[in-house]
Amino acid sequence: MQIKLLAVFAFVLLGLVVLLIRISFITVTEGNTYARKVLSQQSYDSQTIPYRRGEIQDRNGVTLAKSDLYYNMILDCAIINSDSDYLEPTLTALEEVYGLDTDKLRTLILDEETASSRYQIIQKRMTRAETERLDAYVNEDFSDQNLSEEERGELLEERSNVQGVWFDAFYERSYPYDSLASNVVGFANDEDTGVVGIENYYNSMLNGTNGRIYGYLNSDLEYEKTTIEPEHGYTLVTTLDMNIQEIVEKYIAEFDEEYGTEDSDYKGAANVGVVVMDPNSGEILAMACNSSFDLNDPYDMSSLYSGAEIKAMDNTTYVDALNDMWSNFCVSESYEPGSVFKPITVASALECGAVHDGDAFYCGGNLLITDTVINCDNIYGHGDETLEYAIVNSCNVALMTISARMGISNFLYYQNVFNFGYQTGIDLPGETPGVVYDKSGMNEVELATCSFGQGFTVSMVQEITAFSTVINGGYYYQPHVVRQVLDSEGTEVKSIEPLVLKQPVSSSVSSLVRQYLTTAVQKGTGQKSQVPGYLTGGKTGTAEKIDLEPGSSTLGQRATGKYLVSFIGACPMDDPQVVIYVVVDEPNVDQQADSSYAQILFRKIATEVFPYMDLYPTEEVTQELLWKLGLTEDDVVKGGSRASATFQCFDSYGTLHNDAYVNTDGEIVDGDGNVIEGCYINDEGHVVDAYGNVIDVTIDIDTTTEEVAENPNIASPPNESAAASADDTTVWSGVTDEDLEDAGEDE
Ligand SMILES: [Zn+2]
Repeated sequence: MQIKLLAVFAFVLLGLVVLLIRISFITVTEGNTYARKVLSQQSYDSQTIPYRRGEIQDRNGVTLAKSDLYYNMILDCAIINSDSDYLEPTLTALEEVYGLDTDKLRTLILDEETASSRYQIIQKRMTRAETERLDAYVNEDFSDQNLSEEERGELLEERSNVQGVWFDAFYERSYPYDSLASNVVGFANDEDTGVVGIENYYNSMLNGTNGRIYGYLNSDLEYEKTTIEPEHGYTLVTTLDMNIQEIVEKYIAEFDEEYGTEDSDYKGAANVGVVVMDPNSGEILAMACNSSFDLNDPYDMSSLYSGAEIKAMDNTTYVDALNDMWSNFCVSESYEPGSVFKPITVASALECGAVHDGDAFYCGGNLLITDTVINCDNIYGHGDETLEYAIVNSCNVALMTISARMGISNFLYYQNVFNFGYQTGIDLPGETPGVVYDKSGMNEVELATCSFGQGFTVSMVQEITAFSTVINGGYYYQPHVVRQVLDSEGTEVKSIEPLVLKQPVSSSVSSLVRQYLTTAVQKGTGQKSQVPGYLTGGKTGTAEKIDLEPGSSTLGQRATGKYLVSFIGACPMDDPQVVIYVVVDEPNVDQQADSSYAQILFRKIATEVFPYMDLYPTEEVTQELLWKLGLTEDDVVKGGSRASATFQCFDSYGTLHNDAYVNTDGEIVDGDGNVIEGCYINDEGHVVDAYGNVIDVTIDIDTTTEEVAENPNIASPPNESAAASADDTTVWSGVTDEDLEDAGEDE
């Protein structure tokens, strides 16, 4: 009863002040509206109940992003000062329940500056259980204690005088797997605004609407509360599989570790990107690049820059560096794809009838297109070859001949149908459409150049979606990363079914190209990608990059020694269930033109992903294949990389190692990969241990790099894509200064 009266009293006091200013007329019938309006001025009586931002889960329901409920303890000094009986019992309560320093609190409550404050945060980020301890204290009834009526009454009154303390609820976003899939999941700032990734693309769906508790006086002047429940945000079930994502990220990190140096910011290549797709649905199973970051601490760039470097950055450089780190290479960057585009040219040529299975071609090492000589990778020529071997040999001359037969109109038609030059519409922000020629810009030289994947740019998601189409029977599925939307109770609101947008090529064309790609891996340029036991197929790419360094003497030219190497492959080739695309952009090595960097990364990832996906080995694993790949039988299950079988040898300290082997760098190492001292490989290629024992072991180190002819004069991509400029979709261009201010680092 006393509380009710107090509420009335507080209400009247405040009401008098506020209402005189704010409300011009009041009628009896509008009493409730009036009360509600007044009380909404008070944080104490009109409290926001925050909504919970929805979770982001992987395809199996593993939580990748979540929001947890916490409370800040708030002191309403005005309430406490409204009655001299409140101060001491309230201080006692805070000391007894939470051990707070009463002197400090007393100063805060009585100080001229804060005495009328209604909102002083005195304890942060408390759990619900912690807040309930105060409720229990206030509501203690002492009936279990042996007290006189008088004593008990005094205690009850004291507890009822604990006033002006309340708990302000809020949700805190966190990411249980830290940096896992960071460039895809993205993060939200403290105001629940998604800054990058899924958090950004689906921002409004993840967010909800706040609820509110209103206190008001009913017609009998009784204090009542009404509650409007918050509407929580939707939970998104993504297409990602965190196990596959972890495998992919493990090998990207291993690559960075192997080839990274201080000068390269510890990256093994300027960019490494990997996308894993289900070709029969367009679902992205994993997507990663080598610029991941901690989603729980997204402004931390210490893995890339020293403290001094970060301090020296001006605002623009700082923002650019953050955007670079957060950017999703697989979606937001475009580059010339190189030979991984050849299967798409061949499929298009088969579909429009320009070529047929079994057609014969001749490669003399180069081809004169109007006035430009364009080289094949094999400058001595591949000689006579069938359409299949145009792919198997990755022959530029055959591809140029094929595209000439198609003609410019047909070539551009298929480029368009396969969505090059347009966004795929993947549900991620910042998708680049790439740049392609239109009819007015394309002549014979550009056509020839584009046939083997140079002279236009693509994103990884464009290439893997088009490749999946070519091998899955010809169906172009919309690529996507979210498969299901759930409400806060876990009930399905929407299911995102695989969506076939078009069928660019027939199933018979698809089946022929699958056969060509299988041969390319078994007998052609893709042999290092082979996954022992599995029927894989795929295509290598080694694209000569154009120098874009401002002020460089070779600006705008090719043949600068910079390459983007790649491999795209699928399994099993009689009914592909998974496609993996690996891009290694400017590997941090002397000779960049070697697609084996991408092939070996593909093989290591696939060796773990295939069994995880319940794909069963169907092919015999021969010793010959293992030697060719520099693997042991052990590695077939582990995905490692060795140049010899294991053997016994002594080191210079006389220790016998039972599991020594020669690694692919030609070093003699123990089972943990540590170099064994005192052992070497003699001139005859035999291992000699520290005691001079010659060990009979076959070593197979393939140090030859692919021969890649330079083509300094072939067509560059157009400056602006005709297709893209006709597309009015807004292209995201990273965060701005403003976003950063909004993001406001904690406190
Ligand atoms: Zn050739």
